[in-house]
Amino acid sequence: MQLRIAHMYPAQMNIYGDRGNIIALRQRCLWRGIDVTVDPIHPGATVEWAQYDLCFFGGGQDSGQALIANDFVTRHGSALKSALADGLVMLAICGGYQLLGNYFLTQAGQTLPGIGALDVHTVGGTQRYIGNIAVEVDVPIAQRQCIGFENHSGQTFLGAGARPFGTVIAGAGNNGTDKTEGAQVHHTYGCYLHGSFLPKNPHFADFLLTKALERRYGYAELPPLDDRVEGAAQQVMLRRMR
Ligand code: GLN
Repeated sequence: MQLRIAHMYPAQMNIYGDRGNIIALRQRCLWRGIDVTVDPIHPGATVEWAQYDLCFFGGGQDSGQALIANDFVTRHGSALKSALADGLVMLAICGGYQLLGNYFLTQAGQTLPGIGALDVHTVGGTQRYIGNIAVEVDVPIAQRQCIGFENHSGQTFLGAGARPFGTVIAGAGNNGTDKTEGAQVHHTYGCYLHGSFLPKNPHFADFLLTKALERRYGYAELPPLDDRVEGAAQQVMLRRMR
Protein backbone atom coordinates (compact mmCIF):
# COMPACT_ATOMS: atom_id res chain seq x y z
CA MET A 1 0.00 0.00 0.00
CA GLN A 2 1.07 3.52 -0.63
CA LEU A 3 -0.17 6.85 0.68
CA ARG A 4 0.46 10.03 -1.27
CA ILE A 5 0.37 13.29 0.62
CA ALA A 6 0.34 16.84 -0.75
CA HIS A 7 1.74 19.39 1.71
CA MET A 8 0.53 22.89 0.87
CA TYR A 9 3.03 25.74 0.96
CA PRO A 10 5.33 24.28 3.65
CA ALA A 11 7.72 27.26 3.45
CA GLN A 12 5.09 29.92 4.04
CA MET A 13 2.59 27.97 6.14
CA ASN A 14 4.27 26.11 8.97
CA ILE A 15 3.77 27.53 12.41
CA TYR A 16 3.80 26.09 15.96
CA GLY A 17 5.19 22.81 14.70
CA ASP A 18 2.43 22.04 12.22
CA ARG A 19 4.93 20.01 10.18
CA GLY A 20 4.67 17.51 13.03
CA ASN A 21 1.37 16.46 11.47
CA ILE A 22 3.21 15.28 8.36
CA ILE A 23 5.81 13.51 10.49
CA ALA A 24 3.08 11.72 12.46
CA LEU A 25 1.16 10.65 9.35
CA ARG A 26 4.32 9.38 7.69
CA GLN A 27 5.63 7.54 10.73
CA ARG A 28 2.33 5.86 11.56
CA CYS A 29 2.27 4.53 7.98
CA LEU A 30 5.89 3.39 8.01
CA TRP A 31 5.39 1.50 11.28
CA ARG A 32 2.66 -0.44 9.45
CA GLY A 33 4.61 -1.10 6.27
CA ILE A 34 2.70 1.48 4.21
CA ASP A 35 4.89 3.50 1.82
CA VAL A 36 4.47 7.26 1.96
CA THR A 37 5.37 10.06 -0.41
CA VAL A 38 5.05 13.68 0.66
CA ASP A 39 5.14 16.31 -2.08
CA PRO A 40 5.58 19.92 -1.02
CA ILE A 41 3.31 22.16 -3.09
CA HIS A 42 5.08 25.46 -3.56
CA PRO A 43 3.71 28.68 -5.12
CA GLY A 44 3.47 28.29 -8.90
CA ALA A 45 3.12 24.49 -8.80
CA THR A 46 0.69 22.57 -10.97
CA VAL A 47 -1.03 19.74 -9.12
CA GLU A 48 -2.71 16.61 -10.44
CA TRP A 49 -5.06 16.05 -7.53
CA ALA A 50 -6.03 12.53 -8.60
CA GLN A 51 -2.51 11.46 -7.60
CA TYR A 52 -3.10 12.29 -3.95
CA ASP A 53 -4.81 10.56 -1.06
CA LEU A 54 -4.39 13.24 1.57
CA CYS A 55 -3.73 16.96 1.56
CA PHE A 56 -2.30 18.87 4.53
CA PHE A 57 -2.31 22.65 4.91
CA GLY A 58 -0.69 24.10 8.04
CA GLY A 59 -1.14 27.41 9.79
CA GLY A 60 0.68 30.64 9.14
CA GLN A 61 0.77 34.26 10.09
CA ASP A 62 -1.40 36.76 8.22
CA SER A 63 1.72 37.77 6.26
CA GLY A 64 2.36 34.14 5.21
CA GLN A 65 -1.25 33.73 4.17
CA ALA A 66 -1.08 36.93 2.11
CA LEU A 67 1.89 35.49 0.17
CA ILE A 68 0.05 32.40 -1.02
CA ALA A 69 -3.72 33.12 -0.89
CA ASN A 70 -4.03 34.21 -4.52
CA ASP A 71 -1.87 31.35 -5.78
CA PHE A 72 -3.97 28.91 -3.75
CA VAL A 73 -7.30 30.19 -4.99
CA THR A 74 -6.44 30.75 -8.65
CA ARG A 75 -4.25 27.66 -9.22
CA HIS A 76 -5.97 25.11 -7.01
CA GLY A 77 -9.39 26.41 -5.95
CA SER A 78 -11.72 24.67 -8.37
CA ALA A 79 -9.69 21.48 -8.94
CA LEU A 80 -9.06 20.99 -5.23
CA LYS A 81 -12.73 21.58 -4.42
CA SER A 82 -13.70 18.87 -6.94
CA ALA A 83 -11.16 16.49 -5.43
CA LEU A 84 -12.50 17.20 -1.94
CA ALA A 85 -16.06 16.59 -3.12
CA ASP A 86 -14.73 13.30 -4.50
CA GLY A 87 -13.50 12.35 -1.03
CA LEU A 88 -9.88 13.48 -1.01
CA VAL A 89 -8.95 13.64 2.68
CA MET A 90 -7.76 17.04 3.84
CA LEU A 91 -6.63 18.49 7.16
CA ALA A 92 -6.11 22.24 7.40
CA ILE A 93 -4.96 24.02 10.54
CA CYS A 94 -5.62 27.63 11.53
CA GLY A 95 -4.30 29.84 8.69
CA GLY A 96 -4.78 26.95 6.23
CA TYR A 97 -8.29 26.37 7.58
CA GLN A 98 -9.12 30.05 7.15
CA LEU A 99 -8.16 29.84 3.45
CA LEU A 100 -10.49 26.86 2.91
CA GLY A 101 -13.32 29.22 3.84
CA ASN A 102 -14.90 31.97 1.76
CA TYR A 103 -12.54 34.77 2.78
CA PHE A 104 -10.35 36.15 5.58
CA LEU A 105 -10.65 39.86 6.35
CA THR A 106 -7.42 40.62 8.19
CA GLN A 107 -7.12 43.09 11.01
CA ALA A 108 -5.11 45.29 8.65
CA GLY A 109 -8.18 45.49 6.40
CA GLN A 110 -6.95 43.20 3.62
CA THR A 111 -9.40 40.66 2.25
CA LEU A 112 -7.66 37.39 1.47
CA PRO A 113 -9.71 35.10 -0.76
CA GLY A 114 -10.43 31.51 0.22
CA ILE A 115 -11.47 28.62 -2.01
CA GLY A 116 -14.89 28.25 -0.37
CA ALA A 117 -14.57 24.53 0.28
CA LEU A 118 -15.95 25.21 3.77
CA ASP A 119 -18.82 27.65 4.24
CA VAL A 120 -17.04 29.81 6.81
CA HIS A 121 -15.47 33.25 6.85
CA THR A 122 -12.89 34.77 9.15
CA VAL A 123 -12.49 38.28 10.50
CA GLY A 124 -9.30 39.47 12.18
CA GLY A 125 -10.06 40.63 15.72
CA THR A 126 -8.26 42.68 18.32
CA GLN A 127 -8.15 39.84 20.82
CA ARG A 128 -5.74 36.94 20.36
CA TYR A 129 -6.84 33.51 21.52
CA ILE A 130 -3.78 31.76 22.88
CA GLY A 131 -3.68 28.61 24.94
CA ASN A 132 -4.51 24.97 25.25
CA ILE A 133 -7.78 23.79 23.77
CA ALA A 134 -9.85 20.64 24.17
CA VAL A 135 -12.53 19.68 21.68
CA GLU A 136 -15.19 16.98 21.32
CA VAL A 137 -14.92 16.24 17.62
CA ASP A 138 -18.02 15.37 15.62
CA VAL A 139 -16.37 12.52 13.75
CA PRO A 140 -17.26 8.80 13.93
CA ILE A 141 -14.41 7.57 16.08
CA ALA A 142 -14.48 5.82 19.45
CA GLN A 143 -12.53 8.50 21.27
CA ARG A 144 -13.87 11.91 20.34
CA GLN A 145 -11.88 14.15 22.66
CA CYS A 146 -8.93 15.88 21.05
CA ILE A 147 -6.45 18.30 22.55
CA GLY A 148 -4.30 21.01 21.00
CA PHE A 149 -2.91 24.51 21.26
CA GLU A 150 -4.53 27.51 19.61
CA ASN A 151 -3.08 30.90 18.74
CA HIS A 152 -5.18 33.08 16.44
CA SER A 153 -6.73 36.50 16.31
CA GLY A 154 -8.95 35.57 13.38
CA GLN A 155 -12.52 34.79 14.42
CA THR A 156 -14.20 32.26 12.19
CA PHE A 157 -17.96 32.18 11.72
CA LEU A 158 -19.89 29.32 10.19
CA GLY A 159 -22.31 29.90 7.34
CA ALA A 160 -25.60 28.08 6.93
CA GLY A 161 -23.91 25.29 4.97
CA ALA A 162 -21.14 24.62 7.47
CA ARG A 163 -20.91 21.81 9.98
CA PRO A 164 -18.55 22.34 12.91
CA PHE A 165 -15.58 20.02 13.31
CA GLY A 166 -16.48 19.80 16.96
CA THR A 167 -17.57 21.47 20.18
CA VAL A 168 -15.22 23.34 22.49
CA ILE A 169 -14.69 21.68 25.87
CA ALA A 170 -12.12 24.28 26.98
CA GLY A 171 -10.55 27.12 25.03
CA ALA A 172 -11.84 29.57 22.41
CA GLY A 173 -12.37 27.60 19.18
CA ASN A 174 -13.72 29.30 16.07
CA ASN A 175 -14.57 32.67 17.57
CA GLY A 176 -14.53 32.54 21.35
CA THR A 177 -18.29 32.86 21.59
CA ASP A 178 -20.37 30.08 20.03
CA LYS A 179 -18.39 27.07 21.31
CA THR A 180 -17.96 25.68 17.82
CA GLU A 181 -14.54 24.58 16.68
CA GLY A 182 -13.45 24.14 13.07
CA ALA A 183 -15.58 23.00 10.19
CA GLN A 184 -15.95 19.91 8.05
CA VAL A 185 -17.47 18.68 4.83
CA HIS A 186 -16.93 15.31 3.06
CA HIS A 187 -13.51 14.30 4.46
CA THR A 188 -12.24 17.87 4.66
CA TYR A 189 -11.42 18.99 8.20
CA GLY A 190 -10.41 22.50 9.20
CA CYS A 191 -9.57 23.37 12.79
CA TYR A 192 -7.55 25.63 15.08
CA LEU A 193 -5.62 22.84 16.79
CA HIS A 194 -1.89 23.26 16.58
CA GLY A 195 0.12 21.26 19.01
CA SER A 196 1.11 19.55 16.77
CA PHE A 197 -2.41 18.22 16.41
CA LEU A 198 -1.84 14.68 15.09
CA PRO A 199 1.11 13.68 17.32
CA LYS A 200 -1.05 14.66 20.30
CA ASN A 201 -4.11 12.89 18.89
CA PRO A 202 -2.93 9.73 17.14
CA HIS A 203 -6.48 8.34 17.15
CA PHE A 204 -7.49 11.16 14.82
CA ALA A 205 -4.37 10.62 12.67
CA ASP A 206 -5.46 7.02 12.19
CA PHE A 207 -8.97 8.13 11.28
CA LEU A 208 -7.54 10.31 8.47
CA LEU A 209 -5.24 7.52 7.29
CA THR A 210 -8.11 5.03 7.27
CA LYS A 211 -10.32 7.32 5.18
CA ALA A 212 -7.50 8.10 2.75
CA LEU A 213 -6.53 4.44 2.27
CA GLU A 214 -10.17 3.28 2.00
CA ARG A 215 -10.72 5.76 -0.78
CA ARG A 216 -7.81 4.41 -2.84
CA TYR A 217 -7.89 0.71 -1.98
CA GLY A 218 -11.50 0.13 -0.93
CA TYR A 219 -10.38 -1.10 2.49
CA ALA A 220 -7.83 -0.22 5.11
CA GLU A 221 -6.62 -2.27 8.00
CA LEU A 222 -4.47 -0.32 10.40
CA PRO A 223 -2.96 -2.56 13.07
CA PRO A 224 -3.06 -0.80 16.45
CA LEU A 225 0.10 0.95 17.64
CA ASP A 226 1.26 1.50 21.18
CA ASP A 227 -0.19 4.96 21.94
CA ARG A 228 -0.21 4.63 25.73
CA VAL A 229 2.12 7.58 26.27
CA GLU A 230 0.04 9.86 24.04
CA GLY A 231 -3.13 8.64 25.75
CA ALA A 232 -1.73 9.40 29.19
CA ALA A 233 -0.64 12.87 28.07
CA GLN A 234 -4.15 13.55 26.73
CA GLN A 235 -5.72 12.57 30.04
CA VAL A 236 -3.40 14.92 31.94
CA MET A 237 -4.27 17.81 29.63
CA LEU A 238 -8.01 17.10 29.73
CA ARG A 239 -7.93 17.04 33.53
CA ARG A 240 -5.93 20.28 33.66
CA MET A 241 -8.27 22.10 31.30
CA ARG A 242 -11.53 21.03 32.87
N1 GLN B 1 -3.14 34.53 10.92
C1 GLN B 1 -4.21 33.81 11.44
C2 GLN B 1 -4.79 34.36 12.75
O1 GLN B 1 -4.07 34.86 13.62
C3 GLN B 1 -3.78 32.38 11.58
C4 GLN B 1 -2.78 32.14 12.67
C5 GLN B 1 -2.28 30.74 12.73
O2 GLN B 1 -2.27 30.02 11.73
N2 GLN B 1 -1.83 30.35 13.88
O3 GLN B 1 -5.97 34.29 12.91
